[in-house]
Amino acid sequence: MRDVQPQVYLVSAPALDYEEIEEYLKDVGGESWLERIYREGDDDAQNLVEFAGRFCYRSWEPGLNPNVTRIRTEQKDYLENILSSQHGSVLEHAQFTFALHNVSRVFTHEQVRHRVGTAISQESLRFVRLDDLSFWFPDWAKEDDELHEKALRLIGQMEDFQMWMAEHFGLDDDGRTFAYKKARTSFMRRFAPEGLATGMVWSANIRTLRHTIETRTAEGAEEEIRIVFDKIGQIMRQECPLLFGDYEVNDAGAWIPGWRKV
Ligand SMILES: Cc1cc2nc3c(=O)[nH]c(=O)nc-3n(C[C@H](O)[C@H](O)[C@H](O)COP(=O)(O)OP(=O)(O)OC[C@H]3O[C@@H](n4cnc5c(N)ncnc54)[C@H](O)[C@@H]3O)c2cc1C
Repeated sequence: MRDVQPQVYLVSAPALDYEEIEEYLKDVGGESWLERIYREGDDDAQNLVEFAGRFCYRSWEPGLNPNVTRIRTEQKDYLENILSSQHGSVLEHAQFTFALHNVSRVFTHEQVRHRVGTAISQESLRFVRLDDLSFWFPDWAKEDDELHEKALRLIGQMEDFQMWMAEHFGLDDDGRTFAYKKARTSFMRRFAPEGLATGMVWSANIRTLRHTIETRTAEGAEEEIRIVFDKIGQIMRQECPLLFGDYEVNDAGAWIPGWRKV
């Protein structure tokens, strides 16, 4: 058995093409916006959200739309107004992709219930043959010696059965077709525990991230998913402090947003 910890890797984040944005802005007379925003570092997601918001009202500067006589010049104020006034649709433009590694099927079953604003690619246990089983134990379970010892023995038996089946089905024999291996591998996974560590590529936009960070770190949520979403929350607070800075993390580790259901 491989003793593992759930891991979160941010593998993709928005990247803006400021030259194209400038071309557009020249056409509507809004180039001054580019002088006000920061373009270094990890500001692209926040800039994209602001870009989409200002696009709607031509609020790059006062007067471009005669109905707009004053504007919020600070990005902090602008984005806070987006959150507080629940204009969250502009958050949907900024999409982030995470590699969620060594997360269990317990986790993935719950994670895929979030449908809106997500994209999912899950490790296929129809194709990927199991041999040693990866498993995460919470610290409290490891500290219970009797429990831990019995659990390890059980997992060891399941591993032995996986190996036995692979040999019994002759999966590595010459001439085995891929279809045969796939069918047997799919059968074999039925004897893997739901706690088996596996993986998922998960993409979500900022609106979805705000909702899932709140619901999946809530005190009533499952232990593993709370750990993963605490990590995602920390990453997002670093990536987009102006769009995730309103959360308070309470003593129980729940992320409570200042602005809910944006
Ligand atoms: C602590 C906890 C315990 C849970 N326990 C259970 C359980 O016992 N059994 C169980 O089956 N599930 C359970 N769930 C899963 C839960 O019911 C949801 O399916 C899951 O959290 C997905 O969230 P969501 O419905 O907000 O969907 P998302 O896809 O994340 O949607 C985001 C938001 O979009 C809107 N939306 C999405 N789809 C629709 C739609 N079709 N129509 C209208 N509006 C929509 C809603 O406002 C929704 O909140 C639990 C979740 C949590 C956090």
